[in-house]
Amino acid sequence: MNSFVCRYPLILLAALAGCAHAQQCAPEEGIAVQVLGSGGPIADDARASTGYLVWIDGESRLLVDAGAGISLRFGEAGGRFEDLDVIALSHLHTDHSAALPALLKSGSFSGRQRPLLLTGPAAGGPFPNVLDFVKALLARDGAYGYLSGYLDGEGRLPLMSVQSFSIESDEGVQTVALGDPVGYELDVLSVPHGIVPSLAYRVRVRGHTIVFGSDQNGSNPAFVDFARGADLLVMHMPIPEDADRIAKRLHATPSQIGRIAGEAEPERLVLSHFMRRSLRSLDANVEAVRAGYSGKVELAEDLSCFVVPGN
Ligand SMILES: [Zn+2]
Repeated sequence: MNSFVCRYPLILLAALAGCAHAQQCAPEEGIAVQVLGSGGPIADDARASTGYLVWIDGESRLLVDAGAGISLRFGEAGGRFEDLDVIALSHLHTDHSAALPALLKSGSFSGRQRPLLLTGPAAGGPFPNVLDFVKALLARDGAYGYLSGYLDGEGRLPLMSVQSFSIESDEGVQTVALGDPVGYELDVLSVPHGIVPSLAYRVRVRGHTIVFGSDQNGSNPAFVDFARGADLLVMHMPIPEDADRIAKRLHATPSQIGRIAGEAEPERLVLSHFMRRSLRSLDANVEAVRAGYSGKVELAEDLSCFVVPGN
């Protein structure tokens, strides 16, 4: 089975059997994406905000986004802070970043020594560069100065380095400098999300490609190439087809998602980041996506697991 939802009774089993729950999603050998949060910024959708965990050979190696609620889901999924190479923030809206300090505090109990990398966008509009965002949280005089060891290495916390990426659309594809070889490559593309600097991420691992489209309005034509032929393309569908002008400035409509997927031709398309306004007319929205894309369309829920076949 390539996709299933890890559900709560399994948590009990996991507690009884060590890390069994993690294995529910992540094969001991192979690649999988687990949805930690499939909801939006409003607390009325019974879902955590955005977060995706990339499992490689049973280890939780990469976290894309850290929206509100995902630190709980990270534990439920059996994620191990020690295994993370990178936390990749797509942008600094709360539903993509607010769980970061909670996750770091939780991780401070892990005994991890290995450095950690955090990536995110450069400054734009009212949003700071991700480096300044992290400093505002974690510097000695920051909001959570008691976690400043992440920036200066004191207090037995692992050092966290921060890389920010250009949000100029003509910059094209940028690649994250991962330092020590981690067995995969991570690419970045700026995507338009109103005035909010936003980054799509692409993981290239063992000849497979996983693309996280992030919040975007679908108007950067370079994104089609970025996502072309992906084994798994995750697209956000927080708005219905008849959303207002302001919402469309921020997000692609279902038919635009279908057009992008139709051109990029991923093996599988996962729709995520739902809000009540897009869930209310979910069938019609999925239909609008299918009008442009004839491949496999799957709907994310919190803790959904998508195994990339062939590993
Ligand atoms: Zn957003």
